[in-house]
Amino acid sequence: MRSKIVAGNWKMNLSEKEAKELCKEVNNMNIGSEIEVYIFPPMLYVSDCKALSSKVKVGAQNAYPKDSGAYTGEVSMWQLKEAGIDAVLIGHSERREYFGEDHSFLKQKLDSAIAHGITPFFCCGEPLEIRQNGTFLSYVKNQLEESVFHLSATEFEKVVLAYEPIWAIGTGQTATAEQAEEMHAAIRSWVEEKYGKELAGKTSVLYGGSCNPGNAQALFACENVDGGLIGGASLKAADFSVLVAER
Ligand code: PGA
Repeated sequence: MRSKIVAGNWKMNLSEKEAKELCKEVNNMNIGSEIEVYIFPPMLYVSDCKALSSKVKVGAQNAYPKDSGAYTGEVSMWQLKEAGIDAVLIGHSERREYFGEDHSFLKQKLDSAIAHGITPFFCCGEPLEIRQNGTFLSYVKNQLEESVFHLSATEFEKVVLAYEPIWAIGTGQTATAEQAEEMHAAIRSWVEEKYGKELAGKTSVLYGGSCNPGNAQALFACENVDGGLIGGASLKAADFSVLVAER
């Protein structure tokens, strides 16, 4: 019905040699035909990883929404597409927080990714104080309304969503299966309100935030959790292969 996805966000880790090695290991994993596996290496290595990949899809952790021009240091969606890259992360909380990426910039990125046929993985999620004050559902809904829900149904169909509570990212503290399911079900209901039941049923919504071999089974068993966006545990082939197998 909808794609089951396990994706590794390597963040700013690994030497070139280590990245190529890990890429080969991921490609050698036993990947069931019903599962899609993605890796998101540092930008410097995406082309090499793409060349080394057969069954695994390769994405970039970032890209700029203009195609070309005087934007020193940036790489565009158009350039990624030319290099055969499959996907891009948009709206990761680290980009929002450390690089000041706001709703309207993320919207431009999403439009550019879709225009160039790159699969956007759009990340949303609340910080700890919002979790604690109880307004997390409206906070995440607002993130989607501001950056995603302007898309037409045919555009939205291309999007993968990832719910990543910020208090769970890299902290070792995961959302419980109940917390994850509550949010994922809510996300799917908002997608349904906007785009209808059929498209909502086809949308993959991944969980991210300290997902590891110890907790993945419970999270992935949730009805509305379609896989994971994995940080720390994607850097070790042994851990990542368990997550791929769990899914
Ligand atoms: P983590 O990162 O698994 O290390 O918490 C997840 C992410 O930021 O995508």
